[in-house]
Amino acid sequence: MFDSLSDRLGGVFDKLRGRGALSEQDVRDAMREVRVALLEADVALPVVRRFVDRVTEKAIGAEVLKSVTPGQQVVKIVNDELIETLGGEVHEGLNLEAKPPVVIMMVGLQGSGKTTTTAKLAKYIREKHGKKALMASLDVNRPAAQEQLAVLGTQIDVATLPIVAGQQPVDIARRALESARLQNSDVLLLDTAGRLHVDEALMAEMKAVAGIATPTEVLLVVDALTGQDAVNVAQNFSSEVSLTGVILTRMDGDARGGAALSMRHVTGKPIKFAGTGEKLDALEPFQPSRIANRILG
Ligand code: GDP
Repeated sequence: MFDSLSDRLGGVFDKLRGRGALSEQDVRDAMREVRVALLEADVALPVVRRFVDRVTEKAIGAEVLKSVTPGQQVVKIVNDELIETLGGEVHEGLNLEAKPPVVIMMVGLQGSGKTTTTAKLAKYIREKHGKKALMASLDVNRPAAQEQLAVLGTQIDVATLPIVAGQQPVDIARRALESARLQNSDVLLLDTAGRLHVDEALMAEMKAVAGIATPTEVLLVVDALTGQDAVNVAQNFSSEVSLTGVILTRMDGDARGGAALSMRHVTGKPIKFAGTGEKLDALEPFQPSRIANRILG
């Protein structure tokens, strides 16, 4: 994860750490390299600027350069700033305390990993929160999407709403709510339809479902490998429906980290979870301090 970014930054900071004394110019030179590394990692330009400005200011402003270990101090400043950029120290978890069934709506484009992530999250909720979940697929566009969720449900032993051929998303959502109440489910996960692009029909359907289901969580699933596109998708979705968070999938294959590093500041939305593989237990709470550690090696 984030190997190429990590290598680049590692090179810059090894040089800094190795020196006894640092001048203001040394810091500025290092920050120029950091800037290039972040841009190559596909981090959004305003985020890169902010990052570099804040680190530079802290590094040359205070007593850092006069200290005994200036290189290490600069690396510590970078570490803190990475954590802040990724969303801060505290992991924002799920809000499952509302009156059951708590509805979690999963939204996103086709192929982002939405259906797999719905199942991963249901499993996580059962195992980590000890809550009973019901899953329902509202995806009537993609052939076999509903069956796919049913198969995953069997694998993780989480109930799925029986499929009624020809039923439309809003009606499926109504039936799912009713069924969740009858079964005393704590949590209802709705896997909404995705399309290849953000379009009006997709947004209208999503809003109609949100109107019926009044979700506590609306989680956008995006593919980390798409870099800044993932951030653009998040902006498009959040202008239509109020997202409570983002789940970044395929973090396992993401060498660059641009989506993870840009998401919070560009969209204002927290990344709540990271998908880290195809298996159904490959879902981790997104913890900025752990990720900053990985990036800085
Ligand atoms: P959907 O169209 O958005 O519902 O996408 P799917 O859930 O069907 O996922 C598409 C593919 O991505 C499947 O092969 C998944 O196994 C894979 N996938 C989903 N999440 C991850 C992840 O975090 N890491 C990896 N490596 N693969 C993933």
